[in-house]
Amino acid sequence: MKNEIKAEAYHLGFIDIGFTTPDVDVNYAQFLEWTEKGCQAGMQYLARNNTLSVRQSAKNLLPECETVICLAYPYPLIAPTATEDQGRIASYALLQDYHITVSELANKLVKKISQLLGDQLLAQVHLDTSPILEKSYARQAGLGWIGRNSLLIHPKYGSGLFLCEILINISIEPDSPFTTDGCQNCLRCLNACPTKAILPNRSIDARRCLSYLTIENRGEIPKEFRQAMGNRIFGCDQCQLACPYNKQSKTSLNAESGQPTINPTPELDDSFAMTEEEFHSHYKQNPVLRAKYTGFRRNLAIAMGNSENPDFLPLLHQAQNTEPNPIVAEAIAWAINNLEPSANPQPDPSFMA
Ligand code: SF4
Ligand code: SF4
Repeated sequence: MKNEIKAEAYHLGFIDIGFTTPDVDVNYAQFLEWTEKGCQAGMQYLARNNTLSVRQSAKNLLPECETVICLAYPYPLIAPTATEDQGRIASYALLQDYHITVSELANKLVKKISQLLGDQLLAQVHLDTSPILEKSYARQAGLGWIGRNSLLIHPKYGSGLFLCEILINISIEPDSPFTTDGCQNCLRCLNACPTKAILPNRSIDARRCLSYLTIENRGEIPKEFRQAMGNRIFGCDQCQLACPYNKQSKTSLNAESGQPTINPTPELDDSFAMTEEEFHSHYKQNPVLRAKYTGFRRNLAIAMGNSENPDFLPLLHQAQNTEPNPIVAEAIAWAINNLEPSANPQPDPSFMA
């Protein structure tokens, strides 16, 4: 039966599948320490008492759980070339929202398991929106190891993976955990991170991470990280692009995971000019919606401020007079200040002779 489930998972496009027990290993203690230090930043839902303890065992989600089936679905990591007038969107967000696509595929796998096991099957599908330590389970199930950049690294497919778990009430022989540390002496992701957000214990301080700051963060982006943002308007791939396992990854743009459904490098001014309605329609069923309209505009304003292109000034000045959101308005003012010639005086050539 295990082999039949595996075969169906590969048939559906998952690149790996593993089986493990419902109790999570030592990473739970690390997760607790991470929240105690406040590294979850504004993602307080991660530190709520009622969800914290749930992460200790999949039985807290499904009391009858005997097996956690871990699945990995690939997405291509791309490093697009952008001009100074364009923003950059993280690779995972170029595809349709994985919460929709991957859970659909997992539910198809549940159907297959149900055919094999009959009425006795109880099953639940979980993704990263559930209180479940996905990466720990994936490592326990033999899919890969947790890299220095905190992500699950698959030895063949790198970290461009969406993880998913199916909890079932049937006991299936667990796979061996992945015990090799493929990072060895490598420090490339740490050196590549523009804000030094990677902690020594293979976790990320979200308060410094551009991925958090440009997506989940609902407030201002701290000034100390704005320059490092560059033209990132949604997420950051830097610690993944630096990883040698992604350079040799078998996932490509033509992989089954699909083609981008949005432009990875949209024009900053066109995006900034979108109405809220246009934003929702343009990014329908896309992860970019997670930043919300105001968060996206805040990011765009900062990217324009980083562009060194004064041609954005008329648009920013116009927006300054009408912007109702104080966080976006502050980002606009910051961008104007960055781009105004008076803020960045050039040397007078007549004194340079
Ligand atoms: S996503 Fe970017 S900012 Fe966050 S840890 Fe990775 S490289 Fe650093
Ligand atoms: S870049 Fe190096 S240290 Fe970082 S996750 Fe990849 S292999 Fe590990």
